[in-house]
Amino acid sequence: MPDPNGFLRYDRRLPARRPVPVRITDWREVYPPAGEELIREQATRCMDCGIPFCHDGCPLGNRIPDWNDLVRTGGWDAAVESLHATNNFPEFTGRLCPAPCEAACVLGLGGQQPVTIKQVEVEIADAAVARGGLRPQPVPAPTGRSVAVVGSGPAGLAAAQQLARAGHAVTVYERDDALGGLLRYGIPDFKLEKRHIDQRLAQLAAEGVRFRSGVDVGVDVTAEQLRAEHDAVLLACGALQGRDTPETPGRALRGVHQAMAHLVAANRVVAAAGEGRPAPATLPDGTPIDAAGRHVVIIGGGDTAADCLGVAHRQGAAGVHQLDLYPEPPADRDAERDPWPTWPWVLRSYPAHEEGGERVFAVAVQEFVDDGTGQVRAVRIAEVTVEKVNGRRIVTALPGSEREIPADLVLLAIGFEGTEEQPLLGQLGVTRNGRGAVDARPDWQTSGDGVFVAGDMHRGASLIVWAIAEGRAAAAAIHAYLGGAGTLPAPVDPARQPLAAR
Ligand SMILES: Cc1cc2nc3c(=O)[nH]c(=O)nc-3n(C[C@H](O)[C@H](O)[C@H](O)COP(=O)(O)OP(=O)(O)OC[C@H]3O[C@@H](n4cnc5c(N)ncnc54)[C@H](O)[C@@H]3O)c2cc1C
Ligand code: SF4
Repeated sequence: MPDPNGFLRYDRRLPARRPVPVRITDWREVYPPAGEELIREQATRCMDCGIPFCHDGCPLGNRIPDWNDLVRTGGWDAAVESLHATNNFPEFTGRLCPAPCEAACVLGLGGQQPVTIKQVEVEIADAAVARGGLRPQPVPAPTGRSVAVVGSGPAGLAAAQQLARAGHAVTVYERDDALGGLLRYGIPDFKLEKRHIDQRLAQLAAEGVRFRSGVDVGVDVTAEQLRAEHDAVLLACGALQGRDTPETPGRALRGVHQAMAHLVAANRVVAAAGEGRPAPATLPDGTPIDAAGRHVVIIGGGDTAADCLGVAHRQGAAGVHQLDLYPEPPADRDAERDPWPTWPWVLRSYPAHEEGGERVFAVAVQEFVDDGTGQVRAVRIAEVTVEKVNGRRIVTALPGSEREIPADLVLLAIGFEGTEEQPLLGQLGVTRNGRGAVDARPDWQTSGDGVFVAGDMHRGASLIVWAIAEGRAAAAAIHAYLGGAGTLPAPVDPARQPLAAR
């Protein structure tokens, strides 16, 4: 029985972040661990609602009120078990999820303060490690069936763990030199230290999952070979095709890059330094992977842009501007537009924003300006309005509003256009749809028999929590396809969308 007055006695509180002047001198996570007292207090705020809307907000269907109450009463071992019943990797979502569960929490009604669900989640996940490590589950009797998982992001890894725990022989193929998908080199260490991935991989390996990194499926191994060696194939290759702006004058100048080119390279430098090995200091075109002393302009308003901002601060940028096409969102939910419990359009400030830089809203780049040598020296922007007409986005520049912002490094973080076109797709006879994603039938199979798809590759660029949910659901479908005994949990179907009012 929860404390019925908990939310009346305690306000919502989060642990303090590490001080800005300290944290921008290193790459460690921004949040230190919260004390047990704070977490138990915050878990006490949960009302154990008759209809827990937090469940509907979370694609994994996490049993949030159950583990809130277990934390409140100090039942950490049971909380660890309850959390892992629905989520393979709570240490990732607890750190990185934007928490649609909190947007749907009943305590958030009428602009009030929801339970700090995500913080409770990460503390339970860390308690699992502190209380004896991520113990592998016993390896079950082999089914004699084998599955190839292509891509080692959260979708592929979640599916691999579910399938291995059902007795199937699972091999994860990853073209990168290290496993983890975007969690490895896309997301910087100050959001997710890589030891969290490594300890999870050790658990999966102990449960029988085989890993083959440095293997580009479709190039190093053909799809035909894969199909000959395995009874089913899961494609979890992500949505890594970056959107570009080739029509903007000056796009070809030196110093104008896709954000992911800079971000991934910078994160690789951090990884190499941590392992005491050398790393390239420049991109293949000779551009330094360093913002030190440079004026950085980041174009875009999402996760990638915020991560570039945090990286630029830690690299010692002279100044950073972050440009957004859209007007500044409101601070609070607009109940007309996004009624509770849907995900609201509000101003989201990441820890990187309190570290510095200037956000400029409702502007569009008109030109990347040449310094006369082929290197960018500024971006020329104009104030704009954006409207949707017949589903198309119309951007109109306001006459006389143009100005220049100094820039010697410009990072394009303007989204992704789905999964990359690559030989693997052609070999499997799988095509991308109009959004650049790969469609799934209701049983998660693509147009190819025995070839399944999950995560960003199916959904388009999305979130870790959706990738894990889709990985779990695709694993359940593969298990059924292989004639496995019983059923595995399937938290979502391929058509499932986030809670929406329209
Ligand atoms: C910079 C950035 C920051 C983000 N921050 C957050 C955040 O804070 N919170 C959040 O919830 N989400 C965040 N996201 C989104 C999140 O990372 C993705 O939604 C999630 O990683 C998708 O998981 P996935 O398993 O589908 O694919 P991915 O993580 O993209 O993994 C796909 C893997 O497939 C591999 N692959 C592709 N083709 C082949 C092939 N032919 N052979 C072998 N391997 C192949 C790729 O190398 C890659 O490792 C962020 C995304 C970016 C880009
Ligand atoms: S909606 Fe909020 S208060 Fe209600 S059960 Fe979920 S976390 Fe607790």
